[in-house]
Amino acid sequence: MRYQADDKRYEKMVYNRCGRSGLKLPATSLGLWHNFGDSDDIENARKMVCRAFDLGITHFDLGNNYGPPPGAAEENFGKILSGELGGYRDELVISTKAGYLMWPGPYGEWGSRKYLTASLDQSLKRMGLEYVDIFYSHRPDPDTPLEETMGALDNAVRQGKALYAGISSYPPDMTRRAAEILRDMGTPCLIHQPNYSMLNRWIEDGLLDVLEKEGIGCIPFCPLAQGLLTDKYLKGIPRDSRAAKDGTGLPEDAVTEEVRKKLVSLNDIAGDRGQSLAQMSLAWTLRDSRVTSALIGASRVEQIEQNIAALDKLEFSDDELARIDAILKG
Ligand code: NDP
Repeated sequence: MRYQADDKRYEKMVYNRCGRSGLKLPATSLGLWHNFGDSDDIENARKMVCRAFDLGITHFDLGNNYGPPPGAAEENFGKILSGELGGYRDELVISTKAGYLMWPGPYGEWGSRKYLTASLDQSLKRMGLEYVDIFYSHRPDPDTPLEETMGALDNAVRQGKALYAGISSYPPDMTRRAAEILRDMGTPCLIHQPNYSMLNRWIEDGLLDVLEKEGIGCIPFCPLAQGLLTDKYLKGIPRDSRAAKDGTGLPEDAVTEEVRKKLVSLNDIAGDRGQSLAQMSLAWTLRDSRVTSALIGASRVEQIEQNIAALDKLEFSDDELARIDAILKG
């Protein structure tokens, strides 16, 4: 039977304004970095995307290199877009990025206008889209003038291939400069996508201040530290977890005894709050009003359902925040 989105999909989700733009994003968005490649179960992928949409997740984040192999996640998402989500394009915010290695030679990665322009064309083709909502420079390029990279984003917007421009993993000073260049070109920087979680707090040291001043939204990636900040690793490394698989970006040795002890203590606080560790971790990334949306990943539908329930309790007492800080510093 053809998929029909849940009539109640907008009843529970919280939508936050992205910086000072007109665009609102769901407090939780879904990323397709893992579990949407050719070696993954496409039926499971379909179920996750549809369930996420039914729960009010309107924003799906891709990258040219997501797979494996690179490009496969966009292709597989394209199948879901032309199938189940066929009638819902105007209810979706779809992003993609270019920055990491996609093809051999000098034009297959980083931040040149040549690479970004070709890559976006390829992404649109793979997804079967006329435009993406957000096109990102995936990483800062130390060798290409920032004016050129931002010019490529501006050009994508002017050509109607992207509605908004974004940057990912840019440090504070470069973000300020990128925002200035884009503003001067008439294409404001919509959003910044940084790594941020209880285990990686670098954006608190300057970046969030820049984003606030420039009116740029913030969508942290890996808010669960790739699954570490869930109850999954409290007693070891389960066989079906990301850490147990090769080449996922989360090596087994990331689950050290020191990290595990912290997770156990954080899990106690989550329990006191009536939440799972994953739910508390997501609520924690959203505690700062400058954070627009937490960009989660998932390997099964139940994780999305559990994680969305974080929105039932977003507030923290000063005491809870102090206890969390003490554990993280310890
Ligand atoms: P998370 O930190 O949310 O980790 C997601 C993983 O955690 C899941 O795949 C699953 O792993 C586990 N998990 C999730 N929920 C639960 C739960 N309730 N209980 C137990 N385990 C759970 O994010 P990701 O690392 O997946 O990154 C999210 C997105 O961010 C990506 O898809 C991508 O869009 C973006 N991203 C952007 C980057 C950039 O450079 N801009 C870099 C990296 C990511 P398991 O397989 O173990 O079940």
